[in-house]
Amino acid sequence: MAKVVIFSGAGISAESGLSTFRDTGGLWEKYRIEEICTAGCLSWNRENTLSFYDARRAQLASVTPNRAHEAIAKLQEHYPKDVAIITQNVDDLFERAGCKNVLHLHGFLSNIRCEKCSFTYAIGYTKQNRDLICSACGGNLRPDIVFFGESAPMYEHLCVAMEDCEFLVIIGSSGNVVAMDHFARQMKYSILNNLERSDAINEYVYTKVLYKKATEAVDEIVADVEQFLRK
Ligand code: NAD
Repeated sequence: MAKVVIFSGAGISAESGLSTFRDTGGLWEKYRIEEICTAGCLSWNRENTLSFYDARRAQLASVTPNRAHEAIAKLQEHYPKDVAIITQNVDDLFERAGCKNVLHLHGFLSNIRCEKCSFTYAIGYTKQNRDLICSACGGNLRPDIVFFGESAPMYEHLCVAMEDCEFLVIIGSSGNVVAMDHFARQMKYSILNNLERSDAINEYVYTKVLYKKATEAVDEIVADVEQFLRK
């Protein structure tokens, strides 16, 4: 398993033009999370919820990976066995930059999923066809996104990946949704890269803290990881 885990959140995609949750003026100020991203909203607010994710797919089609995604893809290309990429993001910018085996903890925007049997269908950046049902079991289809209050089966894989991790890198995550400090505490090396301090993160448990844009921090991060892997 990989010695280095690159764990990311919305901040790494911000410079590609995708809003984070907590930036002022961002997308999430215009929508209430409870109405389009919380367990149950597909039953009482189905059409608005589906339309919201249709719009997110259309937006995703219009953006491209940034230097941070690309530099991490190159790092993984050089050390395919040693670098694992785990993200809370539902966008496909890591994949488009060339990253392999990206673990998406909260789902994948370009997929829809059967509510009954969980089979997934790739729909790219298109709108979800409201007339389609699951061809495997006839169940209703929904965006393949983990809403707040729903179980996140991929968290188990995160825990497994962390068992072998010796060097943890966090990029663009406030720690409000997934807390990583307890993993960082067990590491000999760890880097935290955000724009600013977060109340949900104890920066003192990280061996290096970089408060700057991911595209500006990524060269130093890659250099540190390469130095560690060359030892
Ligand atoms: P968050 O919005 O809570 O925090 C974003 C963090 O990124 C902040 O700490 C901020 O300082 C930092 N940041 C902002 N711009 C940055 C930049 N250019 N470079 C480096 N850091 C930057 O996001 P989160 O911690 O990922 O948690 C919220 C949830 O948001 C996740 O579950 C995720 O699924 C979801 N989300 C995903 C996307 C996406 O797929 N692109 C977009 C919005 C929200």
